[in-house]
Amino acid sequence: MKLYNLKDKKEIVNFSEAVKYGLGKNQGLFFPKKLPIFSQKKIQKLLNKKFISRSQEILSILIGSEIKKKKIKDSVQSAFNFSGPKIVNITNNIYCMELFHGPTLAFKDYGARFMAQILSCLNNQENKSITILTATSGDTGAAVAHAFYKMKNVKVIILYPKGKISKIQKKLFCTLGKNITTISVNGSFDECQKLVKQAFHDQEIRKNTQLNSANSINVSRLFAQICYFFEIFYLLPENLQNKLVISIPCGNFGNLTAGLLAKSMGLPIKKFILATNSNNTVPRYLETGIWNPYKTISTISNAMDISQPNNWPRVEEIFYEKKWNIKDLKYGYVSENETKKNIKNLYMKYKYISEPHASIAYTVLKKKLKIDEHGIFLGTAHPIKFQNTVEQILNIKLKIKQNISNILHLKNLSYNIEPNFKILKKILLKN
Ligand SMILES: *Cc1c(COP(=O)(O)O)cnc(C)c1O
Repeated sequence: MKLYNLKDKKEIVNFSEAVKYGLGKNQGLFFPKKLPIFSQKKIQKLLNKKFISRSQEILSILIGSEIKKKKIKDSVQSAFNFSGPKIVNITNNIYCMELFHGPTLAFKDYGARFMAQILSCLNNQENKSITILTATSGDTGAAVAHAFYKMKNVKVIILYPKGKISKIQKKLFCTLGKNITTISVNGSFDECQKLVKQAFHDQEIRKNTQLNSANSINVSRLFAQICYFFEIFYLLPENLQNKLVISIPCGNFGNLTAGLLAKSMGLPIKKFILATNSNNTVPRYLETGIWNPYKTISTISNAMDISQPNNWPRVEEIFYEKKWNIKDLKYGYVSENETKKNIKNLYMKYKYISEPHASIAYTVLKKKLKIDEHGIFLGTAHPIKFQNTVEQILNIKLKIKQNISNILHLKNLSYNIEPNFKILKKILLKN
């Protein structure tokens, strides 16, 4: 597969290069030059397959011959080697697709684990050591750390905003040690992301370390996420072609990008809804046409506390390339009170225990869904990851699975730094 840089269309790379570089010149995002389009017959054939073998086929077709088919298949097999997506019927025409049954209890396991497999496969060919440098608003860190944990020739450095991620999120990645270094930054997620971008721009660092970002800007992560949108049609009980509306809780807009890519390949999704918390740069942009990010606000849906979403240019590019009307993209943002109210409603009315991110997607879905449509909102994280918040709102005690209670006593191994690039640079050059 060939991809171009959205900021400089003359820069063309293949898939392996896009995975290794993360970003192109001028921090431009890579975008596929040509996406495969499946006929409806081919889609039906794919939908008859089980999740892993279907995903192997989709990713093999997408990536093409530059990586051996057998290697792609093995990568998918190892990456998706956990209990896959589930769909829960909430009420009549509303469903939740739960993407949080992986090892770190959020959808990010799909992308991070596939990326780790692909990188290790490219890396083994070259036998070089690499450093994964990534910023997290909570869930990426855990998924990336676990995906690369103990992998040969890979060092992982993860930045997160101090005090802004939940206890279980932190325990899941700041306690691992070995090839995983974690750094808490006295600042917001956007500041962490900025530090990462600066590092990628720094000639001295680039010369001394083989740097890699595992953020959702990496195409391998997005491609892996395309697969579970296909699974929706496999799991749903009836034929919902062209009636299905999918509501996505958005932070960096990776999930929405993946969903739109799936649709662009021919998957008959009627439309998408993007839902944000009060960090609503995109909803305001769609309303007014003015891109005006405000300072990031901390909310209970912390994985979405992002005011400068990295993947947005890709969303626009898909609409442009496909000649779709951006007005067909529905949107909304949700206050803290409404988020809490609907966590409560989901439980009181439907006995469904949710968490802030899914609640936001549910809230906007409920407002926008028409009677002849069927709606799915994505369950992006397991409620236990937001234990305190959910327990307080619902006034219940959540059950903690054994594998989670086992990590609760582990020590936090993180460094703490100011959001100052010089300090990060020192750490990177020492490492
Ligand atoms: C990362 C994350 C999101 C946001 O997903 P994007 O792909 O960055 O838009 C939403 N919910 C949860 C729980 C997350 O971890």
